Amino acid sequence: MYEINCDVAVIGAGPAGLSAAVAAKKEGAGKVLLIERDESVGGILQQCIHPGFGLTYFKKELTGPEYAGRFAEEAEALGAEVLLNSMVLEVLPESNQILCANSEYGMTRVTAKSIVLAMGCRERTRANIQIPGTRPSGIYTAGAAQRLVNRQNAMVGKNVVILGSGDIGMIMARRMSLEGAKVLAVVEIMDFLAGLTRNKVQCLDDFGIPLKLKHTITRIAGSRRVEGVYVAQVDENKKPIPKTEEYIACDTLLLSVGLLPENELTRQAEIEISPVTNGPAVNQYMQTSVPSVFACGNVVHVNDLVDNVTTESLQAGKYAALYAMGQLEGEGREVESVTGNNVRYLCPQRLREEKGAKANLFFRVLAPELDVRIEARCQDRVIASKKERRVNPGEMCSIQIPLDDVTDDVIINVVKEA
Ligand SMILES: Cc1cc2nc3c(=O)[nH]c(=O)nc-3n(C[C@H](O)[C@H](O)[C@H](O)COP(=O)(O)OP(=O)(O)OC[C@H]3O[C@@H](n4cnc5c(N)ncnc54)[C@H](O)[C@@H]3O)c2cc1C
Repeated sequence: MYEINCDVAVIGAGPAGLSAAVAAKKEGAGKVLLIERDESVGGILQQCIHPGFGLTYFKKELTGPEYAGRFAEEAEALGAEVLLNSMVLEVLPESNQILCANSEYGMTRVTAKSIVLAMGCRERTRANIQIPGTRPSGIYTAGAAQRLVNRQNAMVGKNVVILGSGDIGMIMARRMSLEGAKVLAVVEIMDFLAGLTRNKVQCLDDFGIPLKLKHTITRIAGSRRVEGVYVAQVDENKKPIPKTEEYIACDTLLLSVGLLPENELTRQAEIEISPVTNGPAVNQYMQTSVPSVFACGNVVHVNDLVDNVTTESLQAGKYAALYAMGQLEGEGREVESVTGNNVRYLCPQRLREEKGAKANLFFRVLAPELDVRIEARCQDRVIASKKERRVNPGEMCSIQIPLDDVTDDVIINVVKEA
């Protein structure tokens, strides 16, 4: 077996892995190795040729490849190494080893002092949501269609219906329209948008594409190719309301019905997984339940903006480097971050007391609300609080909390302003 030794090994060279590698090098780690299954770095951003990346982090509007390119160049300039065409098959935390299949060397064993998981996420498919009907061609996940159109120059259809108002679906509604297709409707089962409001404005409203909230697809028609879909209103339990069904003739159905962290390696390494995010549970250093293993990006929780991915990945890389250099305690007393009113999940899930330090807690709300206060409480004390004009499940929220005095669990509540 081909053998490689390094200080920090990063699995996945998307924006999360690239920024973790940059931070690890800047922190002083020796050999930092990015392991990537694709033939090039950049992850999902390679197919996101639209602008809208980097507004927070770079204060500049970049395309996906431009955003990833900045970190790829920096990682290379700092001396991070990349092993492309390498599919990681197993992570062995007890020996800090990674087994991967490399197209040139065959089976390869990487031994590292610390490991960063940055494998991203994958899309939910028709099988995940079980739409009845025939199984014709012309049904794609929105990301697969995006890859075909943007990277392989293959048009996927002419008359399109999109199920789900997630960001990828809305971005593909615009892309398909720009490529000459007719997007007939975006169908969303919830009574609110699943993605960013800015994407509704720029990708649906600007192109006159109807958004059907509180609707779902009940059946797909067509034998060889999709011929149409049946769309019905849903009740408060998300069950289709009889006699509200309408038929929309189309040749293509795109699914934008959620993303799932790529957590097979995490699960098999017996790293604790959050039942809500489906990604590894981490502390403020992005350290998992196995002290030598860190995690960042969409493998931890599905982020809306890549800028947030970068922020947490820089932390993961920094602390993975400190761990590799023997400068980060493996163990320590930790409290939990606890979801309170209108909070679906929190990341990081565990917090360690640290004098003079602060942590960004990222979270998503359960339901949209206007004029709220986000409040972090530890025992009877409010340790941080901020106002928000609007919160929405499709947009990630965050609050910065001091870690000086986290003597007990920290509860985050979203409360209506009086
Ligand atoms: C269609 C779409 C549109 C978006 N639009 C915007 C936008 O306009 N603005 C914005 O800010 N954000 C946007 N985002 C969000 C942003 O792109 C993501 O949050 C970000 O790419 C996540 O980065 P990541 O590194 O965690 O994951 P990824 O980019 O998915 O990278 C993960 C990498 O890990 C590799 N990998 C996985 N498993 C293995 C394995 N076993 N072995 C080796 N390598 C492996 C993959 O090949 C991949 O390269 C969009 C996302 C999508 C999908």
